Amino acid sequence: MKAPRFAYARPASLAEALALLAEHKGDARVLAGGQSLVPMMNFRLATPKVLVDINRIAALAGIKVAKNHVRIGALTRHVEIERSADVARHLPLIASAMPHIAHPAIRNRGTFGGSCALADPAAELPACALALGASFVVAGKKGERRVAAEDFFKGLYATALKSGELLVAAEFPLAKPGYASAFGELARRHGDYAMVGVAAHGSAQGKKFSDLRVVFFGVGDRPQRAAQFERALDGQPAAAKTIDAGLQKLNADLDPRADLHGSAATKLHLAKVLAGRVLRKMEGVAA
Ligand SMILES: Cc1cc2nc3c(=O)[nH]c(=O)nc-3n(C[C@H](O)[C@H](O)[C@H](O)COP(=O)(O)OP(=O)(O)OC[C@H]3O[C@@H](n4cnc5c(N)ncnc54)[C@H](O)[C@@H]3O)c2cc1C
Repeated sequence: MKAPRFAYARPASLAEALALLAEHKGDARVLAGGQSLVPMMNFRLATPKVLVDINRIAALAGIKVAKNHVRIGALTRHVEIERSADVARHLPLIASAMPHIAHPAIRNRGTFGGSCALADPAAELPACALALGASFVVAGKKGERRVAAEDFFKGLYATALKSGELLVAAEFPLAKPGYASAFGELARRHGDYAMVGVAAHGSAQGKKFSDLRVVFFGVGDRPQRAAQFERALDGQPAAAKTIDAGLQKLNADLDPRADLHGSAATKLHLAKVLAGRVLRKMEGVAA
């Protein structure tokens, strides 16, 4: 199938893009890398009347290290993030997640902003944004606002973006000294969306866990922090046995639904196995 007819606009500036989105309201859809939107249109799961192609807006692309944060522009391609020395140095969690996102051809076109705005519950970047405490920079006709990752992902393919708004960037706070992160996912084939994934960030310094943010993806309708698991580990020895003892708390934190990959019980089991593996990989954790 091919997409139904649609109008196409290619603005050269953010202001122009916002004006187009305001003019066409719910009829318009932003086109970034097109790796998700175009197939959805071809399957007629999405039928926008107007596509606002943001690929010419250079100000939306790029990675910048500032005094307190790393800013990733919405239009930054996955491949650029994957190869960025700044990301490898300051955001190693994201660097380890990138090779798991789809395949090279998709990473060449797909964008950071497209992935976060789509909010697929099994996607890697939304989970990393939540684990790292990122803020999303959102622009609308009235100006810019910042939305914490906690408040950005609202549910299945749902975000805090309102009609007429555009995701401009995300800002990731620079990690405190000694903080570490670890990432892992289980997928049927490398590059597929995750059956279950874990993105973790925090401190295992001074032989104790503290300030952990453990985020699961692929097990709910959005990326999800495991609050009880985090609390069970907080202040405890940074050791494999602490992790194992805390894993039971995931029964309370997670409520996975059965999907194509397996039953709810299977997904919960996989989440526990993966969390055990991922947390053990964190720098500073004793075997
Ligand atoms: C075979 C296949 C496998 C894949 N596997 C994975 C995977 O394992 N993990 C994963 O995370 N992703 C995966 N993807 C998706 C891929 O990462 C996409 O690139 C990404 O989800 C969407 O990015 P995009 O730039 O292509 O966005 P588009 O397809 O252009 O847009 C996606 C949605 O986001 C909106 N949007 C885009 N940019 C903005 C913006 N700046 N502001 C507001 N709204 C915006 C669009 O309107 C649309 O609704 C896969 C895709 C395919 C086809």
